[in-house]
Amino acid sequence: MNHAKINLQVSIRAKHLKVTPIRLALLECLEQLQKPISIQELVELLPTGLADQVTVYRAMQSFVKAGLAREVNLRHGHVDYESASSSDHHHLVCTSCGRVEDFEECGMDELIRDVLKKHPEFSQVQEHALELFGTCKSCMKK
Ligand SMILES: [Zn+2]
Ligand SMILES: [Zn+2]
Repeated sequence: MNHAKINLQVSIRAKHLKVTPIRLALLECLEQLQKPISIQELVELLPTGLADQVTVYRAMQSFVKAGLAREVNLRHGHVDYESASSSDHHHLVCTSCGRVEDFEECGMDELIRDVLKKHPEFSQVQEHALELFGTCKSCMKK
């Protein structure tokens, strides 16, 4: 077994999840892709017959709960998933063709500080989601 695989096992165990071949394969896909992917696409990437959509969905839910993966809604008609280990980044989505680009430096930290000041009942914000929806240049020309 190579180092990458061992690291994946360590990440899964660190979240108190059982290491299964499906979880291992899914986490490997997410880490390698570093972009949002749907359940359907994940099933297709796995070795044939390893898991169906329901199994993959359940495994992804366990990852989301454990903080190994994030759900992303790119308005593609389904939820996408991405590795939660990727840095703070967000998505710029073309609502015509579905093109997705990443962007960083969202400036959210400052906003969160201000919001928390105005909402004293909240003590902290652990994570945030931000997707921007618009039209890409090639769709604009059509
Ligand atoms: Zn477009
Ligand atoms: Zn951010």
